[in-house]
Amino acid sequence: MRDKELSQIENTGWQRAAVLGANDGIISTASLILGVAATHASHQSILIVGISGLVAGALSMASGEYVSVSSQADTEHAALVKERAEIAADATSEHRELAAIYMQRGLNLDLATQVAQQLMAHDALGAHARDELGISERNTARPLQAAMASASSFAMGAILPLLIAVFASSKYLIPLIPCVALITLAFLGGLAAYVGKANILRGMLRLTFWGALAMGVTAAVGTLFGPMG
Ligand SMILES: [Zn+2]
Repeated sequence: MRDKELSQIENTGWQRAAVLGANDGIISTASLILGVAATHASHQSILIVGISGLVAGALSMASGEYVSVSSQADTEHAALVKERAEIAADATSEHRELAAIYMQRGLNLDLATQVAQQLMAHDALGAHARDELGISERNTARPLQAAMASASSFAMGAILPLLIAVFASSKYLIPLIPCVALITLAFLGGLAAYVGKANILRGMLRLTFWGALAMGVTAAVGTLFGPMG
């Protein structure tokens, strides 16, 4: 039961990250394409901008995620090294420390001492990692996995406006891309809210608002500085 609940929370986190990545991909690529389309650029230039936006965005999401999750992994690793040294140097006070944690969680002194003793005999570092530092096998930071998940969800979002740019002629891009992007964003916002058991309408409005703002501003910039040639 507890396992099922835990994995439900994890899934929610994973799904939320995927939705956010796709949201980034749609908003930034649709905005880029609109900005360039507003300058009356050639169809080929628009496609190059769209593809560059997809690749650059996916890689920048991957690198950002990799760096952030790696530094989290470094912090966890350093904490474990320190903890292992402390256990080796002074097992008695580490045992007392663990017992104190269990007492805070509601066990009486005798039981806390006993639990700390048995858990430390079984796996001292594991017990301290889990109950003192909050690190477990389950939530260990995995940088490469996180980077790939981020990049692919961004690419999945970015492919949508890019496909429209491939198949629609340039003059239809300006009405078509914002419409499809906003409908998809509303769907994603609603989905994220549904998964997180939040207000669905609010989730839809939040994403479409930011999407409309980003596309509107970029198209305005394109109109302001275009036409290029
Ligand atoms: Zn400790």
